[in-house]
Amino acid sequence: MLLMDDLNVINDMNIFNVLSEAIQVLASCGCASPGLDAEVLLSACLKKDRTHFHIDREQSLTEHELQEFRRYIERRRSGEPVAYIVGKKEFWSLPFEVNKHVLVPRPETEILVEEVLKLCAGMKAGNLRILEIGTGCGAISVSLAHELKNAQIIATDISQEAIKVASRNAQINDVANQISFLSGNLFEPVSGKFDIIVSNPPYISKKEYDCLPSGVRDFEPESALLSGADGTAFHREIIKAGGIYLKPGGWSFMEIGAGQKEMVEYMLNESNLYDSIAFRDDYAGIERVAIARRVTTGG
Ligand code: SAM
Ligand code: GLN
Repeated sequence: MLLMDDLNVINDMNIFNVLSEAIQVLASCGCASPGLDAEVLLSACLKKDRTHFHIDREQSLTEHELQEFRRYIERRRSGEPVAYIVGKKEFWSLPFEVNKHVLVPRPETEILVEEVLKLCAGMKAGNLRILEIGTGCGAISVSLAHELKNAQIIATDISQEAIKVASRNAQINDVANQISFLSGNLFEPVSGKFDIIVSNPPYISKKEYDCLPSGVRDFEPESALLSGADGTAFHREIIKAGGIYLKPGGWSFMEIGAGQKEMVEYMLNESNLYDSIAFRDDYAGIERVAIARRVTTGG
């Protein structure tokens, strides 16, 4: 395995040489996307777009830039996700600040956003009240607010540090006036009724947690991932609370983990609170989103 110290042998610290060596270091420790990761990390160091590297490969790095890049590559080599090293991640084509207190938003969560937007496209105009449980960096609420100018959103998280990150992301993306952020356990800080409840709750079982890739298990917050013995403890709470916090005819959208569809479908049916229950696959063919409408009577 190569170490960053091996880079000392390079005489000309230009972009091409530095990138080539960093790619070798990352590839030798089993990193899945060494080229992309090295370019993203160098781009953050030099504060230049990645396209620049292909145009000006001969440009030399200053000593300071080189030291910083080496520290970044060393962190990546130890398994830290690129998003934490550079402090940002794109979601729904919008920029989000991230740090170790929040889960790095996943591309499959865009499907949850897509499904909410599809439903809203068919709704009549008027103010929409949306509740998000477990907002993390705010990816879902900020994206929804960006697309739905008639939406007022309450976004909660048990982590006060996550709420700070999410509030900053609402400001960065110019939607702070549409979202109220509250910290607390599940529905505890919430009052009133909503047209939509949306959540990507923790859904990893204890058994699965122990087998997660080390980049996830060692760096992302355990409280954002772990959820009871079978991973559906949070879904159960959110389904139940729909009886109190959803308007009759309102909709619940939840992200689910691989293999959880049957259990979540069973819980939705058993509650007698919902009809129009449906599931949507992600692009890997995994059932990823549960959708259900609060019945207008009974429950
Ligand atoms: N919504 C973000 C996303 O999709 O990227 C983050 C989702 S992450 C899987 C789950 C979030 O739920 C974490 O931010 C975690 O802090 C929060 N959470 C965990 N337990 C909670 C609880 N009891 N009440 C409210 N939020 C909770
Ligand atoms: N999709 C995430 C992972 O694979 C889990 C997110 C969650 O628990 N909601 O690590």
